[in-house]
Amino acid sequence: MASPQKTKKKTGAVAAPAPAPAPAPVPGRKLFEYAPAPESRAAAGEIASSNGHFIGGEFVGSSGKEALKTVDPSTEEVLAEFAQGTEEDVERAVKAARDAFGPWSALPGAERGKYLFRIARIIQERSRELAVLESIDNGKPIRETRDVDLPLVAAHFFYYAGWADKLEFASYGPDPKPVGVAAQVIPWNFPLLMLAWKIAPALATGNTVVLKPAETTPLTALRFAEICRQAGLPKGVVNIVTGDGRTGAALTAHPGVDKVAFTGSTEVGRAIARTLAGTRTRLSLELGGKAANIVFDDAPVDQAVEGIVDGIFFNQGHVCCAGSRLLVQESVHDEVMESLKRRMATLRVGDPLDKNTDVGAINSAAQLARIRELADAGEAEGAERWSPACELPSSGYWFAPTVFTNVSATHRVAREEIFGPVLSVLTFRTPEEAVAKANNTPYGLSAGIWTEKGSRILWMASKLRAGVVWSNTFNKFDPTSPFGGYKESGYGREGGRHGLEAYLDV
Ligand code: NAP
Ligand code: MG
Repeated sequence: MASPQKTKKKTGAVAAPAPAPAPAPVPGRKLFEYAPAPESRAAAGEIASSNGHFIGGEFVGSSGKEALKTVDPSTEEVLAEFAQGTEEDVERAVKAARDAFGPWSALPGAERGKYLFRIARIIQERSRELAVLESIDNGKPIRETRDVDLPLVAAHFFYYAGWADKLEFASYGPDPKPVGVAAQVIPWNFPLLMLAWKIAPALATGNTVVLKPAETTPLTALRFAEICRQAGLPKGVVNIVTGDGRTGAALTAHPGVDKVAFTGSTEVGRAIARTLAGTRTRLSLELGGKAANIVFDDAPVDQAVEGIVDGIFFNQGHVCCAGSRLLVQESVHDEVMESLKRRMATLRVGDPLDKNTDVGAINSAAQLARIRELADAGEAEGAERWSPACELPSSGYWFAPTVFTNVSATHRVAREEIFGPVLSVLTFRTPEEAVAKANNTPYGLSAGIWTEKGSRILWMASKLRAGVVWSNTFNKFDPTSPFGGYKESGYGREGGRHGLEAYLDV
């Protein structure tokens, strides 16, 4: 996409909507074509053509006959079949976790920590394999899996390994106890990272787990099961049951679990909350978002534009805390938009395994359909749509980076989570108006502020109803920092000392 070409339609190609002309390139700046720099697909190791669950330390078949397929969303090639977990499979996994809970929770924290340190080191050693496998199964660029997902996954295990023998100092009392068996259900946007966010704190605090990965991205969770075996983790401490939403529903409703941790859509989160209402099962929910990324007139524009691009095009916009609503101070709107469009024209969309790729494939046909529906609604409601000229591959699921201007607060693209590479731009005049507009959402997961004034950052951060507020940066994650939402973005925190609380009986 480096040289703005005309959008070509190949057979089956997913073309960007008629692009408006890109802003004139900066005089004297030449955009070079890059030679492809493909990462080796073979680095992913062997992918078994058919997969069962990981229960009680063993790879086992399902009690049912139904199998699902996971595809490479950049090509639609079927990668593997895996089992649709039945109620009986869930039962077996919960029992294995229950049997393992007594001995695991009785281990001294330092011993549990050793297993977690070992897992963290193996993840580092096998990070290339895991990064390639994640890119193939999910569609996200190798540059991100290699430089963001995998380092953060290892960092989470290292961080919580460090807590395992220090729980008495975490300010939850002198001898905080684990909750028991945790049922954990995760989405497809950061498969291994969400697994790490769930499993590392649960194990460090002495719980055992049954985890269900998303149906479009089960492969790295199954590979993680191998790592548990490699680390000599006692049997039954980690159990992985694959399947779709039916398996998730059976697991989260199982009366034998003490704690449910869910990351996913607000709709499913609500359903789980209804199921668990009135039971003694504890629940934490990490749900959707519609974050405001707020740019003031004193912000350094080039830096802000990088933050805007990172905020919404990182991971194809499949990010719950994505900066999907850009709020720009009116006086710098035109300057910011011109700079943003110029930057968007340099984004490379394509093969996730090419190390030059900035934006990979959309994770599934269903997600692509949802993004298209909402983008079409944006146009129909009168917002102005723009994408850089961009040739998309002829097979697989693709959506060109898109920005909507002239957006009003009532438009669907300003209210609903699109979970794709689509940015909606609104304007404001005063900081008070920026706060009011940013908070005008049912969600409250994250926000960004771009300004030179420290006092304004502090004032804004205290007014914004969002779990995370970034200043002069966006989408920065760290295992030491708590993450979670207000309002319909859920409750409970993951990461940091706060992340221990969800798994302690306090
Ligand atoms: P989803 O449909 O809610 O799915 C999340 C997980 O729940 C998947 O494993 C899914 O299985 C499973 N599931 C589906 N129906 C279920 C049910 N009735 N009971 C129990 N589990 C069920 O969400 P998604 O579309 O995969 O993910 C995107 C959403 O996740 C977005 O809204 C995003 O904002 C949110 N998200 C939030 C965070 C955060 O930290 N706050 C992080 C990432 C994503 P299947 O895969 O088989 O459908
Ligand atoms: Mg897949």
